[in-house]
Amino acid sequence: MNVHSAGQVQKLTVIAPATGDVIAEIEETPVHEVPLFYQKGKEAFIVWSSLSLSERMAYFKKLKQLMVDEMDQIARTISDDTGKVLTEAIVADIMPTLDAIDHIIKHAEKVLRRQKVKTPLLLLGKKSFIEYMPRGVVLVISPWNYPLQLAMVPMISALAGGNTVILKPSEVTPLVGKCIEDLFKRAGFPEGTFQVAHGGKEVGAAFTAGKPDYIFFTGSVRTGKIIQQQAAKDLIPTTLELGGKDPMIVFGDANLERAAKAASWGAFTNSGQVCMSAERLYVERTVYDQFLEMLKKEVNSLKQGTDENADVGSMTFPAQKSVVKEQLDEALERGARLETGLMPFEWQEGMFLPLTVVTNVEQNMKIIQEETFGPLLPVVPFDNESEAVSFANGTVFGLNASIWTKDKQKARRVASKLVSGAVVINDVIITVANHGLPFGGTKESGIGRYHAEGGLRIFCHEKAIMEDLGLMNAEIQWYPYKGKYPLFLNLFKSYFSDKRDWLSFAKNYLALLRSNK
Ligand code: ADP
Repeated sequence: MNVHSAGQVQKLTVIAPATGDVIAEIEETPVHEVPLFYQKGKEAFIVWSSLSLSERMAYFKKLKQLMVDEMDQIARTISDDTGKVLTEAIVADIMPTLDAIDHIIKHAEKVLRRQKVKTPLLLLGKKSFIEYMPRGVVLVISPWNYPLQLAMVPMISALAGGNTVILKPSEVTPLVGKCIEDLFKRAGFPEGTFQVAHGGKEVGAAFTAGKPDYIFFTGSVRTGKIIQQQAAKDLIPTTLELGGKDPMIVFGDANLERAAKAASWGAFTNSGQVCMSAERLYVERTVYDQFLEMLKKEVNSLKQGTDENADVGSMTFPAQKSVVKEQLDEALERGARLETGLMPFEWQEGMFLPLTVVTNVEQNMKIIQEETFGPLLPVVPFDNESEAVSFANGTVFGLNASIWTKDKQKARRVASKLVSGAVVINDVIITVANHGLPFGGTKESGIGRYHAEGGLRIFCHEKAIMEDLGLMNAEIQWYPYKGKYPLFLNLFKSYFSDKRDWLSFAKNYLALLRSNK
């Protein structure tokens, strides 16, 4: 991606990372249009928020069918724009998006309708409800690693509740941003319900400062903190989906063959550019040597490339290469050993990085502490359960983790001790694929959750409603207070004591009612 001016209009030049070819040019949204976007979003909100859920879902159904019909073209667009292989475009970007649409079509009505809640006896005669009222115009800022899913899932979650949406997709993958805009347009969503603002961080910053009603951000910790500062100034609620440094813990009693295949997939899928990828591998010392050999065999069998049968595609974002290099350089300088891959000075030009497994690393190295977002996997032995937990919890991140053992009790015990938004047992990453589970991080991995019921409700104001028929002329706690104190004293004592005294409760309640006359 490059930015250049053509007359007055700034353009994003889209370069396919895997080939280096220029594949498109996309007009950047001028920042002076920010107020116009918000105005349009607010106007569209009036109509969109007043539609019934089933009316809104009719648009969702059209969107889903369009994506099913055009699945192959969408996969190719994603693959061209990111460098990821087609299989990963369809399995890890398109499928979760379709499944999220499906889930929302099936569950939104139940989740977002008025919910009746119990009313305590002391509030006799009243009914209580929660209503979910859309917030307004939601700003979604999305990243480049899963450019379809990580933009569309928050978009549809916000739209379902009656909000309108402005998407600012990553400038690193603008072609997918354009594709999303086109899909919503052709699915017939009314004008202004969704708008796409193309451009880089200046455009993102201008929209963040434009006072949206909610910000849903997925990206780096650094940018997340900048956005949260702006949001704090304007008191705008946010969800921040940030980085990860996910540990994978392999105990000696695990199915080692499955674990070795999982480690190689979990670390190198999408060239490791996954917030939930296996970024640190901890292996029980009793099986460490054996497991390392199995892992190396798996990694060495992977095929990198662009064709349909390739396993690992290219890196997406050129700047990410230097992050990977810096971490590897530091580790090697401090005595780490290369088990697969090449020394950084042997790397070739272009966006394909060697799939690198490294051993002999220390907990305080960057390779263990900082997010890599690349095909680099450090492997560390551990001696017992508590050491594994302490290694796993020993970073500022906490997004996902995986535990490998045949001992169910041990797996659950360790899972409970991990400070992590999600944990997978005998598999990797996969919690994200069940839209019924919440998704989000602990510590610097983020604030808030989406997916599941909460993922629809975050985009709504939760409104408490209490109904009274209004037949009595006064409530017992209203004025005048004369003579009420002893009656309330006895009423609350009888009501809250371990053994409730119903007779005293009724007597005092009736006396309070009478004293109102
Ligand atoms: P990544 O390295 O994953 O691209 P970033 O956090 O840099 O992570 O980018 C994620 C998204 O945030 C992109 O759409 C990017 O344009 C946008 N962005 C970057 N900086 C800012 C900013 N200061 N304000 C708002 N959006 C930003």
